[in-house]
Amino acid sequence: LVADITEIKQAQFTLQSMNQELELRTRQAESASAAKAQFLANMSHELRTPMNAVLGMLQLMRRTDLTPRQVDYVDKSQIAAKSLLSILNDILDFSKIDAGKMTLDPQPFQFSRLLDDLAVVLSASIGEKNIEVLFQVTSQFPKELIGDALRLKQILINLASNAIKFTDRGEVVIAVDSIASDEQRVTARFSIQDSGIGIPSDKLETIFEGFSQAEASTTRRFGGTGLGLAISRRFVELMGGQLTVHSELGKCSCFSFEVT
Ligand code: ADP
Repeated sequence: LVADITEIKQAQFTLQSMNQELELRTRQAESASAAKAQFLANMSHELRTPMNAVLGMLQLMRRTDLTPRQVDYVDKSQIAAKSLLSILNDILDFSKIDAGKMTLDPQPFQFSRLLDDLAVVLSASIGEKNIEVLFQVTSQFPKELIGDALRLKQILINLASNAIKFTDRGEVVIAVDSIASDEQRVTARFSIQDSGIGIPSDKLETIFEGFSQAEASTTRRFGGTGLGLAISRRFVELMGGQLTVHSELGKCSCFSFEVT
């Protein structure tokens, strides 16, 4: 009996020290991950300031006397600087989300203004493409809402820009339905349907992870960083919804979510 008790005590002691070791490792891993997220957030913030200065200077330079060739150089620099700034903004959002520091800022807003802004941004993405972008908004949808309009717009821009980017012909439909409402609240269903290249079924989950794309060739063929969906999914979750996707390879994709 004494031998049994000694064995049990020894086993308890081993288990305890293993537990302590595990707790220490977990704390170390958590603080390393928090430091990484903090570093990313600080870096992208530091990078944005000079980037904005470059953009401002280019705008001023555009107003001076320039030869047509110089105007072309300034225009191209502006396009590159804007695209770099949008990547920096995505990295900043992503690292904030990763560090658990992203919060929403709900305010009253006009829904039609949001759709107008969205249409302006999307018309630039369509370019020369032979596709039709349609807005299908249910007629009873309220005009004034309370929510984080900036983030809602960011989600819709991400999803609709992807739909346009990955579609060569046909249409992109941005639909807004009211699926439940009372005097105080409306639950809206947003869906963005395209007739584009589609997504392989084994990639339907991984595309929502940060820095991931469906194909290795996507960056080369279409550009992008693979952050848009990770950010959008998290924003939808912060709004109390879930971003889901259905797709048929070579035919269509449809991203949708519901928020109140
Ligand atoms: P990015 O567009 O910058 O690559 P996202 O996170 O927005 O990053 O998208 C991740 C990947 O998901 C894309 O690279 C693409 O492979 C796939 N994807 C997203 N939307 C669509 C779509 N509408 N049609 C086909 N593939 C898509």
